[in-house]
Amino acid sequence: MIQESIKKFVIVGGGTAGWIAAATLGNIFRHSEVEIELVESDDIGVIGVGEATIPPLLTILESLGIDLVDFIKHTQASFKLGIQFDDWHTIGQGYFHPFGTLGRSIDGHDFFQCWLKSKSEGDDTPLMAHSPESVLAEQGRFFLPFEAQGTPLASTTFALHLDAVLAGKYLRKFAEKSGVKRTEGLVESVSKSDKGFIESVTLKSGVEIAGDFFIDCSGFKGLLIEEALETGYEDWSEFLPCNRAVTVQTENMGDTTPYTIATARAAGWTWRIPLQHRTGNGYVFCDKYCSDEEAVETLLSSIEGEPLTEPRVIPFTTGVRHKAWSQNCLALGLAQGFLEPLESTAIHLVSKSLALFVRLFPTAECDTQLSDEFNRRVRQDYEEIRDFLVLHYCTTQRDDTPFWRWCQQMPLPEKLKAKLELFKVHGGLIPGTEELFQPTSWYAVFDGMGVEPIGYNPTLDAIDYHKLKQSLHSGKTAIQTSAATQPSHDEFLRTYCPAP
Ligand code: FAD
Repeated sequence: MIQESIKKFVIVGGGTAGWIAAATLGNIFRHSEVEIELVESDDIGVIGVGEATIPPLLTILESLGIDLVDFIKHTQASFKLGIQFDDWHTIGQGYFHPFGTLGRSIDGHDFFQCWLKSKSEGDDTPLMAHSPESVLAEQGRFFLPFEAQGTPLASTTFALHLDAVLAGKYLRKFAEKSGVKRTEGLVESVSKSDKGFIESVTLKSGVEIAGDFFIDCSGFKGLLIEEALETGYEDWSEFLPCNRAVTVQTENMGDTTPYTIATARAAGWTWRIPLQHRTGNGYVFCDKYCSDEEAVETLLSSIEGEPLTEPRVIPFTTGVRHKAWSQNCLALGLAQGFLEPLESTAIHLVSKSLALFVRLFPTAECDTQLSDEFNRRVRQDYEEIRDFLVLHYCTTQRDDTPFWRWCQQMPLPEKLKAKLELFKVHGGLIPGTEELFQPTSWYAVFDGMGVEPIGYNPTLDAIDYHKLKQSLHSGKTAIQTSAATQPSHDEFLRTYCPAP
C-alpha cells in the first residue's frame, strides 16, 4: 500500500507552543514542499506567562541554530541556575534546587552515598556546597561554563528566565523566515471526515484552511483536540489541588538573581522571576482555601517594586489530555495538559513532545501504533513531573493553615510512594534514562524538605574514609574558590548581552 506523506500542517494558536512548533517544523521542512500555516487570533491573544525555563531550552535553541546572545538580548532574558524554595518545610527555612549534578563519584561510589557516609561520620557540610550552581547562585554570580574549562564550574548547567511575549515574537520571526505562513483569524468551526480526521478549520472571515495534519496550540480550551475530537482530560486535582494563579509584573528592584524564587504561602506559593527589564510575579493557589481577593492581596504585599500591570487571575485544572495525539491532531502546550509551574516544565514539555513526534513521524494515514506510543510516553512524562511536584508539598512540616495541613495527609501517587519508601532505606534512587528529573533533583528536594534515609548503602563501609573525606573537602573548596572569582550576574549580563 502506498502511503500519502503529509503535505500540509496547520497549527492553530500562536502562543509559545504554537511558535515553537512552527519554528521546529519550519526548520525541518525548510528545503521541502511541505507547507506549514499557523493561525492565531489577535482578539484572543496569548497567555503571556511562562517565563522560567529549564536547561533543555538551550538545546532547542541550538538545534534551531539560534544564537544565544541574540535570543537573550531580544527576550530580555536573565540566567537561571535553579530555584530557591523558601518556607516550604517550615516558615523561615529554605533550600536550593540546582540544575546539573552534585559532586563526582569517589572510587566508583555514587556521590550522594559518599556524602551520606561522611554525614554519618559527623561531617556537617551541606549537600549544596557540592553543587556549582547552588554556590554561584548563593553568591549572585554567573559565567558561561565553557569559559571555565579545567575548573569545577565547567559542568555548570543553566537555563533562562525570559519574557514570554518577546520569546513568541522572536520565534515567530524565525519561523516565518523558514517559510511558515501566518494567518490572523478566529477559528470558528472545524470540519471532520467520516473517519473522524480533521479536514479543515474555518475562520470567522469565512476562509477555510485545509490540511493533512493539525497541531492544536489553542491553549487551555483545546479547540481541536477537545472541542472537535472530544479526547477527554484526566483531572489530577486530587494530587495537585492548586487551580488558580494571579500574576503581576513589577519594576526591577536590586540585583537580578540568577535563580527563580518560589515561596510557600498560606494557600499555595508565589514565584519571582527576574528579567533584565522587569520582574514577573505570581501566586499559584487553591480556591478552596483562598479567594481571588485574598490571593491578590498576598501577592501585592509580597512584591518588591512598583506594579507595572494590573493583577490578572488565571484559572486552570491540573491534568493531562487522555490522548495528546488523536487521529491527525497533535495537542501541544496548554491544549495538551497543565502542571503548575513550580519546576518550570511547560515549555520543555512542548519541545520534548515535538521531538518525540518527529521521531514517530507519521504519514497522512497516522498509524495508531505511532500515536499510541507517543501518548504512552507523554503520559509518562506528565506523571513523572506530577510526582516530583507532589513531593514538594507532601513532605512539608507546615501546619499553620488548612492548606498545609491538607498537604501533610494528602493522597500520594503509587509511584511516588514507592520512590519515597525506597529512598528512606539508604538513599537509593535508580534514574530512568528518559526522566527529566534525575537523582540530583530528588536529592535536593528530599534534603531541603528534611527527608532523610535511615542509613547509607552498606558498600560505603568498604571505602577508604580518609580518602573520601579529603575528596569531598577538596571538591567543595574548589567550587567555592572558582565561584568567588566569577562576575556578578548583573555584571555578566551587561558585558555578555549588552542591550540591543
Ligand atoms: P496560549 O499562550 O494561551 O496561546 C493560545 C493561542 O491560541 C493564542 O495565540 C490564541 O490567539 C490562539 N487561539 C485560541 N483560540 C483561537 C481561535 N478560536 N482561533 C484562532 N486562534 C486561537 N511554563 C513554563 O515553562 N515556565 C513557567 O514559568 C510557566 N509559568 C506559568 C504560569 C502560569 C500561571 C500559567 C497558567 C502557565 C505557565 N507556564 C509556564 C505555561 C506556559 O505559559 C505555557 O505552556 C506556554 O505559554 C504555552 O502556551 P500555549 O501556547 O499553549 O497557549
